[in-house]
Parts: sequence; C-alpha cells; structure tokens
Amino acid sequence: MPASILGKVVDLPGTEVVRNPITRLDCPSCGSAHVAQVLGDNGGVSYVCTACGHSWS
Ligand SMILES: [Zn+2]
Repeated sequence: MPASILGKVVDLPGTEVVRNPITRLDCPSCGSAHVAQVLGDNGGVSYVCTACGHSWS
C-alpha cells in the first residue's frame, strides 16, 4: 500500500525524505512520479517510489 510504504520511509531515523518536484523523477519500475528523494549517511542519494516501493540510486 502506498501509504504504508511512505510511512516506513518517513520513519527511518537519520534520513531526510524530500518530495522532489524539481527534477520530476519517474519511477523506472512503474513510471509513477511519486518519488521521494532519500539522503543517506553513506554519501549517496537514493530514490524511493512511494507508489510501488521500488528504490534505486
Ligand atoms: Zn514505482
């Protein structure tokens, strides 16, 4: 469920989840534009689709 997936992402400690209206990323898995940008502590940025839960970087 999209709502539960988004909740998990937001609840992750030490991460910052930002809606990404600027770059307009589309999920490579389902094509949804509901993509959250996740800034990790490993120096990388990854993305999580809040529609299907697919994550990539
Ligand atoms: Zn997706």
